[in-house]
Amino acid sequence: MTLEERLLSRIMKRENGCWEWTGACNSGGYGQLCVLGHMRRVHRVAYELWNGPIPKGLYVLHRCNNIRCCNPAHLYAKSRHMIRRIRLSDIEPIEPIAKPPPDWRRF
Ligand SMILES: [Zn+2]
Repeated sequence: MTLEERLLSRIMKRENGCWEWTGACNSGGYGQLCVLGHMRRVHRVAYELWNGPIPKGLYVLHRCNNIRCCNPAHLYAKSRHMIRRIRLSDIEPIEPIAKPPPDWRRF
């Protein structure tokens, strides 16, 4: 099974466009997956798999505010500095694409 197949086998595609991780999560609620012997956050693995390498030092954030979402179109990478600037200036407000359904935590 490839890494992509492992990911897709545990993703549930929701009507709002989110690809929700249904596998194991860490204490913070982020999906996690063992890759080459290391526990990694699933959204970072998904970003690398479908969007390309995460530039060093950048954080992968969710446009949809759903931390279990792995849809590469909902993920973007920013530095801590840029995240602060965006939030302070509202140049590029972080708008959720769609509200996650109220029951998403059930999964
Ligand atoms: Zn999403």
